[in-house]
Order: sequence, then structure tokens, then C-alpha cells
Amino acid sequence: MLWIDGVLVSPGKGGVYGERMLGEFRIWDPRRSKCAALARHDPTIDFLPDQRVLYLGAAHGTTVSHIADYVEVVYAVEIAAHPMRNLLRVCQERPNIIPIMADARNPSSYAPLVEAVDILYQDVATPSQVDIALDHRVFLKDEGILILMLKTPCMDSRRSPEDLCSEAISLLQPTYRILNTVWLEPYHRDHAAIVAQAVPSPFP
Ligand code: SAM
Repeated sequence: MLWIDGVLVSPGKGGVYGERMLGEFRIWDPRRSKCAALARHDPTIDFLPDQRVLYLGAAHGTTVSHIADYVEVVYAVEIAAHPMRNLLRVCQERPNIIPIMADARNPSSYAPLVEAVDILYQDVATPSQVDIALDHRVFLKDEGILILMLKTPCMDSRRSPEDLCSEAISLLQPTYRILNTVWLEPYHRDHAAIVAQAVPSPFP
């Protein structure tokens, strides 16, 4: 990740969503992007030029556009038509983003379009967030990285965020080795970022 005087930036053309510039770099604001908030809390988070990313919950392409400034390709899955329209505009300037209008609860609908990826980034606000992460293990290379933005209020509003996060971790663990869990306060309330590594498949 590129930091200039403590400010996270990405190296790409500006004017995507009104982001500010620092010289020729785009400022990546932790209040606008959970990924930028995670980078503030976890200095090991990185995106590299030879990496492929599968991004679930692309929305208008705010965070996708910054990740695309760093990596080779981003497969960007979004279910809703309105954000998809804006995402398509972002793709016009960034040909390394492959937009896919689909439901992340049905990965077989886009499996033929996506190569094995180094990073699975998930920011889908549905009760089935953990199931989605488990179902997408097949897209990750062995030892690839999962970044799961866990939005606890939409999982079960009667249970505490900590309880929901602990349960999510125990469900993920046979499939992923947990590397870090970070609450994204003060930038995003009741959101935990779970960073994990795919456990290699026992089958060749
Ligand atoms: N990741 C975005 C960013 O940082 O710029 C914000 C994502 S927003 C919190 C969640 C997005 O997930 C919404 O755009 C929503 O339409 C999308 N979404 C919700 N359910 C989905 C599903 N089943 N499949 C794909 N996208 C979904």
C-alpha cells in the first residue's frame, strides 16, 4: 500500500467519486471505504501488481476503483442495477475491472468467467455473509487471502456484534485460517474485518 505522510493513496486517474488528490495520487479515505479503514488498523494488508481479486458487493465501484489501481484485475460482482450503472462508468476508465451483475449467493452463475484469484474481498450486507465466504473458497488459490467485511447488524439485530463475529470465525475456521480480526471503529460502526488465509484443499 502507498502512504504519503500518513495518508493512504492509490496510483490512478482521479475523478471517480469526487475523491481528493495528493499530487498525482488518489486519496483513499477510511471513512469512505472499509478497505482503507482496515489498512489503517492492519499494516499487513497489501495489494500487489500481479494479483487477481474477486470482489463481492462492488456497489458504485468506490473501493473497487482503488484496489484496481494496485492489482492486475478485479472481478467485481454486484447484484443491484443502480450501483451497477455507476460501476460500468468506472470500468470505462479502468479496463482491469471486470463487472459481473450477479447474486453472490449463486456463485455458479459466474464461475466460468472468473480465474483463480489471490484475494477474495467480500462486502455484501446479507445475513448469509459467512456462507457466501465459504462458498467462494473454490475461487481462491491455495493460501489465497479472504478479506471479509462482516456487517453484524444485518446478521441478527438481537445478538451482540462480538458474539456474531465469534460465531462467524468458528464457522470459517475449517476452511480458512484466521490471520486477524479488526473492528473498523471509528470509521464504520459494528463492522469487523476478518482477514483469513484459505486452507489448502486436501485433494490434489
Ligand atoms: N464495497 C463497496 C465499497 O466499499 O465501495 C460498498 C458495498 S455496499 C456496503 C454492499 C453492496 O452489496 C451493495 O451495493 C449491494 O447491492 C450489494 N449486494 C447485496 N447483496 C448482494 C448479493 N447477494 N450479491 C451481490 N451483491 C450484493
